[in-house]
Amino acid sequence: MRIKALAWIGIKRWPNLFEFNFQLNFISNLIYIPQICASTFIMTQPKLIIHGGFFSESHTDAATKLAKQQAMASIAKMAFEYLQAHTALETVIFANELLENDPLFNAGTGSQIQSDGIVRMSASIMDGISQRFSGVINIENVQNPIRVAEKLLGYDDRVLGGTGASAFARRSGFTHYDPRTEQRKAEYEAKVASAGTGTVGCVALDATGALAAATSTGGKGFEMVGRISDSATVAGNYANASCGVSCTGVGEDIVSAALATKIVTRVTDGMTLSSAFQKSFNELKAIDGFAGAIGISASGELFHLDSHPSMVYAWTDGEKLEFFK
Ligand code: ASP
Repeated sequence: MRIKALAWIGIKRWPNLFEFNFQLNFISNLIYIPQICASTFIMTQPKLIIHGGFFSESHTDAATKLAKQQAMASIAKMAFEYLQAHTALETVIFANELLENDPLFNAGTGSQIQSDGIVRMSASIMDGISQRFSGVINIENVQNPIRVAEKLLGYDDRVLGGTGASAFARRSGFTHYDPRTEQRKAEYEAKVASAGTGTVGCVALDATGALAAATSTGGKGFEMVGRISDSATVAGNYANASCGVSCTGVGEDIVSAALATKIVTRVTDGMTLSSAFQKSFNELKAIDGFAGAIGISASGELFHLDSHPSMVYAWTDGEKLEFFK
């Protein structure tokens, strides 16, 4: 146990903590070095997959497509680099933050505007190891809803909604931030409802074999005040020790299909990730649902599927990098 923890802490905070641990426990560690090396060799190959909603979201022109492809590829690369020295949990939060900060996507900056002219965002995190879920629903005026969800991971009350979520953010030091972009304002003024959706999400598998998922959204756009998105529910974002899944699409369909939880449960009960995706999407089809999802299993299987072939995604295992075409 001690060896595993030591090796992981060292690897997680490489190189400083690793060196520090070795200096501190030099003598006692001498006898463990061969085992640390051995455990290093049997480490899981880290993997990561991200999504940026559906391409049809607000633009279908070639320039926007290219910009989204470039953003996906570079965020996947940055997040994968981060994963080398951080846990799956830390990495999914980091990746969502990068996606929230990119106005191309409907989360954080660039979120869609609701029917009353206000942006309300939702985000959640699921740690596959501790089995803790945290989230914010319809939070206002923060730059990174995913960071507020991260803060809530340490509390007993871990999912906050509306004014409670916004007040918690203020109390916790998150400064006032208006996430509306000029493009979103123009769309709202023109009352142009988006053709699809553009939430963001990430699932990561780290070197210890731990999984985590995080999802963040500005919602469907023009929704009724008080509408709850799937993104901060276990239907839209779920992980355990066997599998992690993040969804995008029409929240009502995703909740009706209990999509993320259903896929994760099927993998936990022995199905392959791809079969679990296929079966769950067949069920989604039966209710004419519109959704896309990304996932990774503990065995390292990585998969994505959408009911409409236009989900924006990228994945990498450090050697290969693949993104939507
Ligand atoms: N699932 C999100 C929602 O319904 C929207 C999206 O995926 O873009 O709120």
